[in-house]
Amino acid sequence: MNPDLRGLYQEMILDHGRRPRHFGAPAQFTHKLDAFNPLCGDRLTLYATIENGEVKNAQFDGKGCAISVASASMMCEEVEGKSCDHAEQLFHRFHQLVTGKQEAGDIGRLEVLAGVKDFPARVKCATLAWHTLEHMLKGDREAVSTE
Ligand code: ZN
Repeated sequence: MNPDLRGLYQEMILDHGRRPRHFGAPAQFTHKLDAFNPLCGDRLTLYATIENGEVKNAQFDGKGCAISVASASMMCEEVEGKSCDHAEQLFHRFHQLVTGKQEAGDIGRLEVLAGVKDFPARVKCATLAWHTLEHMLKGDREAVSTE
């Protein structure tokens, strides 16, 4: 990746980390799940309205490092209004991307987080929100922990 692009990507992560979108508990939701990454101390709660096989709304709150917050922010933006199948596919692609199992390219701007694959401890930060969503889509009600 060229250095300019890398700088732009870092900027986008910092921006989402500082000013997360879809942040705060919504007035109404059908699903809620807590998640914790003890390795870093990231805690988040994911709220979603999932009806008729579609993620109609996705929001989160909590506290965590810039990577975990930025990833949750971008995830909520990406999956809102999408079908559950699509969200599930995104989860798998994103997971493969940040664990270095797949070349980036077909995941849109989520690719900005691909750099974490070089930092194994950060992978858990980047995937925390996604694992939470995955559990939610499967109907799990237990809190999610990365450990
Ligand atoms: Zn973290």
